[in-house]
Amino acid sequence: MEHIFGKHQSPIDISKPIKSDLPDLSFKYKATQCKPHDNHYSIEIQYDNQSLLYIGDHEFHLLQFHFHTPAEHSFDGQQHPMIAHLVHKNTHGFYAVIAVIVDEGKVNPYLQKLIGNLEDSISFDATNLLPSNTSGYYYYHGSLTTKPYSENVHWIILKDSITASKEQIAHFEKVMHHNARELQPAFDRVVRYRD
Ligand SMILES: [Zn+2]
Repeated sequence: MEHIFGKHQSPIDISKPIKSDLPDLSFKYKATQCKPHDNHYSIEIQYDNQSLLYIGDHEFHLLQFHFHTPAEHSFDGQQHPMIAHLVHKNTHGFYAVIAVIVDEGKVNPYLQKLIGNLEDSISFDATNLLPSNTSGYYYYHGSLTTKPYSENVHWIILKDSITASKEQIAHFEKVMHHNARELQPAFDRVVRYRD
């Protein structure tokens, strides 16, 4: 199917965000039985438990999460080495992606569990991918960064990051290669944020 891109594509460079009165996020994730899977694009984990995200009062179901090396989205042109995308959908078919920046630092035992058990069945709780403080985030309206690039995504990029060791990031990159979509023009969109 031919796709004509609109003016709400992702990812974008985030610069000059505007402080706004954005809703609280609430994560009601549970552990699920899953198989970390190399889908030749990313390492993806399908989520089949009733795990929910609330943006204010709006409920979204966690469908899957996956990773990008380097990170999609940049900040004033600065790109982080890796990012996790937690993909949710609501009953109206609208997506909400929570992006968690992964910076180089301490070894991450939860990421190790994923990378060390590719194609094995494991129990995993996506709560372990969130930073301890999820209050601050950036928000804008964008698109999926893979086909069909539909422009029905609430993008929420958490301000606090998690860490992985240099070796762990290299391991993800070896499996996924460089799988970040190139930056798209922001056009007239404004990124909002809260602390
Ligand atoms: Zn993604």
